[in-house]
Order: sequence, then C-alpha cells, then structure tokens
Amino acid sequence: MIADWLDLTLEGHASARGMGRIPGGRYEIVAPGVLEITPDVTGPKARPCVISAGIHGNETAPIELLGELIAGLESGHLIVGAPLLLILGNLPAIRSGERFITTNLNRLFKRAEASVTGNDCPSDDEPARARQLMAAVDTFYARFPLAEGTRRLHYDMHTAIRDSLYPRFAVVPFSDGDAISASQWPILSAAGIQAVLHQHQHSWTFSHYSRHYHDADAFTLELGQVRPFGANDMAALAPMKALLAALATGTAPAEADPEAIDYFTVEVELMRQSADFTLCFSEDVANFTAFAPGSVVAEDAAAGPCIIGDTPLRVVFPNAKVEIGARAALLLAESSTPTD
Ligand SMILES: [Zn+2]
Repeated sequence: MIADWLDLTLEGHASARGMGRIPGGRYEIVAPGVLEITPDVTGPKARPCVISAGIHGNETAPIELLGELIAGLESGHLIVGAPLLLILGNLPAIRSGERFITTNLNRLFKRAEASVTGNDCPSDDEPARARQLMAAVDTFYARFPLAEGTRRLHYDMHTAIRDSLYPRFAVVPFSDGDAISASQWPILSAAGIQAVLHQHQHSWTFSHYSRHYHDADAFTLELGQVRPFGANDMAALAPMKALLAALATGTAPAEADPEAIDYFTVEVELMRQSADFTLCFSEDVANFTAFAPGSVVAEDAAAGPCIIGDTPLRVVFPNAKVEIGARAALLLAESSTPTD
C-alpha cells in the first residue's frame, strides 16, 4: 500500500490524496509525494521529523533509504512511534532522472516568494513545488506541538555531484537563532557522517527553511555520490538507515564519539566577478581537497588571484561556470567540535 505509493508516485500514477492504517499508526497522503504518518502512541524519544529525499531528482540513494523506511513501517518490522513527514521532493525531475527541470528547487525555500499564488498551483513547476512543500512543513510542525525540552528535526537527504574526501557529510544551514542541539553530533557520528560544514550565511535550501522558520535541528545530508537507482552502495548507508528507523519508532538512536567527525566553517566565499575567471585546479577535484598556504586557487580578471593565506583551506562545491556575481566555491577552515 504505502510502499506501492512510493513506486506509483515515481511512476506518476499515485493519487494525490489518501489515507489508511499501518501497524501502530495511520498515514495520510497530504500532497503528491508527501506522506504524513501519525503514531497511535509516541515513543520515549519521539520528535516530529521531516525526512526528505529527491529535492534533486537524480540523487537516488536517499529515495532508496526512504523506500526501505516506508517498507519497514508498513510491514510492522518498525512500529511507528513519532510523527513523520516523508517527502519526495522534485517529482518530475525524479521521474526523468535529472537534477531539476527548470531551476534548482533547493534555492527556493523562502517565504517571501511563497505568497504569490498560494498552495493550490500545479506541482510540476519548481517554484510551485517549493511553496507546496513549505506549506506541508508548516502544517506538519503546527499539528504536532513539541514536548518540553525537545526540538523539531529535519533531515534533507542528498548525494553529491562530485567525489568527496568525506563521502558522507552534513551541511548545517546558517541561523541567527539557537545552535543545533549538541545531542545531534554523537547521533550523526554513529550514522556514519564523517564531516560537518557550518554555513556562514542564509541560503534558501529546504533544510534552512526548517531551521530558520521553525528552529528545527535541520541538516542537508550528503550521502555519497550521485548514482542511478540500483547502483548505490546501500551497505555504506546502513548506519543512516538505522538512524531513520530510530527516529520513526521514537526510540533512542545509536551514538558514537562526536570527535570522530571533522568540523568546518566557511572561511572564504569565492565569487566569480568577471567573464575571465578560472579555478586553478582540475575540474574533478574532490570536495574537501586541502590547499596549502600560498596556493593560488582562482584567477579573476576583476578580483585578481585568490591565494590561500596562513592556514590551509579546503574547497567544496567548486563550479567555475556559475554566472558572474555568483558563488564559484567555498573555502573551509577546520573548527572544533561544537559544544552547544
Ligand atoms: Zn542534492
């Protein structure tokens, strides 16, 4: 039933609405590709959880993880014990195996841009889909008030375009508000996350939406590299699968040493400022590659060379082909384990 829902949704045949029972709770399809699950009884560690996949349509490993979670809940192998909002993000892009159709969905989660046409517009256009998903998250978090001392949670699961020295890493969206709960680091460590990158300014991603507007512990999780369905290394993601199962059942997730994770902050946001712009390293350089002091990492006719200063920096998300005025790479410095 709901496991079929995932397949049918991917094939474009799922009904937009529907509801029913699963062991220990009930489900409701609240929008295409958006499944809300409500437990009859909440578990001891229950927190309202948004778990999303396929915000970029060609990133299939997270969709497989979501499918395995849903199958476990439907079979009764897992008894639902926490409110869940399970989301398949960009449905047309998932169906065509593309990152996006017209524009990158993961830049559109900003409320000011949400009020134009409301929530009843077609879902196969990225701005409309962003509005629909923001509304679904708002409704979900409003429906399940927080127990004293707990916070909301959102894991937005992706896979990265390029190779990475840390295959599995978390991006923490910027917030002016409270720090991420310190309890998250041992949990992410046990789930196989190897590095954490703290963003330095607002970027209107889906995880940022939950952190900025709902004070959630929210992350963009990069879980390996982009591969087609069936070609993902799911064994490497078994600890992440176990974490999702713990969240869904409202039980305590496994924990490991948070010091096993390497933490980074953004030191330099490298912007392309002219047509004559080059990155001075090979196009297939892995994320988190380190550059020693004195290395020239970019040449720009307007801004001049970008030279690494006294401390080595790591590069992530490089892209020399961005528009003029846009970000061409982030340069990171190592930081200590967050304590609060
Ligand atoms: Zn992605």
